[in-house]
Amino acid sequence: MHVLILGGTTEARRLAAQLAARHPAPRVTSSLAGRVAAPRMPAGEVRVGGFGGPEALARWIEEHAVGAVVDATHPFAEGISAGAARAAAATGVPLVALRRPGWEAGPGDRWHPADSLEGAAALLPGIAGPGGRVFLTTGRQKLAAFADPRLDQLHFLVRSVEPPEPPLPRHAHILLDRGPYSVEGETALLREHRIDVLVTKDSGGTATAAKLTAARALELPVVVVRRPTPPPGVGVVPDVADALAWLAALPLPPRRFAPEFPARPPF
Ligand code: NAP
Repeated sequence: MHVLILGGTTEARRLAAQLAARHPAPRVTSSLAGRVAAPRMPAGEVRVGGFGGPEALARWIEEHAVGAVVDATHPFAEGISAGAARAAAATGVPLVALRRPGWEAGPGDRWHPADSLEGAAALLPGIAGPGGRVFLTTGRQKLAAFADPRLDQLHFLVRSVEPPEPPLPRHAHILLDRGPYSVEGETALLREHRIDVLVTKDSGGTATAAKLTAARALELPVVVVRRPTPPPGVGVVPDVADALAWLAALPLPPRRFAPEFPARPPF
């Protein structure tokens, strides 16, 4: 069985590591988008870069005799997840989405849900107030939503792994960093920059959750961007153990060729 893991997340790396540690190990290829200059490399084979759309992904699946696809990309990586759903439908190869559960507000949290980055931006003047200071942790892409003249009075601390893509908010201080983060570190950062409001996607997981604990302790409001809906018809598992169970329950793929019994030429 050749398993294709669409990756770029901690869960994708864990899944690749657990499959690679099996005896006998299945063939595993992890696919990375290639956005990060020095990514944490998964175990097993790795390919980097976009496939070139769903049809090209379907061709890749067929040419590499992939027997199952695990879409373990980030919950907000909508493009590749939609492409994987189309490629799986076209090839008939089983597909599952591995999605860590979203975060949930607890006692003391002051969360403001938003349906999109634009929706989050629209909430900010009312929450942060004139001259307010915003900690923006929604990643390096699509920050145009915050490059809005109505937010020119606000000061943004923008944290991302790679330099953010312009356009950026008028007053933006860039902080390049990569999790996991500690509650102590996040609390110190919020204090040092006198942050009034935190903006985050509902990424879920533990690697970047410390900022929420820190915000709760400091009684700061948090704007939480809701997740997009996964593509229809694709099964979802919440963790690596369930992804492994899903793989184990798959029927063995039919043999595409039997080298020990080569087809005889007709004569
Ligand atoms: P996206 O908008 O869903 O994808 C845009 C295009 O990038 C896809 O159509 C595909 O190109 C290519 N691509 C994305 N992920 C790929 C993968 N794992 N392997 C091969 N090609 C991939 O994705 P994104 O939001 O830019 O995220 C890019 C990667 O970063 C994802 O792998 C994701 O897991 C990771 N990531 C994303 C976020 C986030 O907030 N979005 C956060 C952390 C990590 P083609 O159509 O040419 O195949």
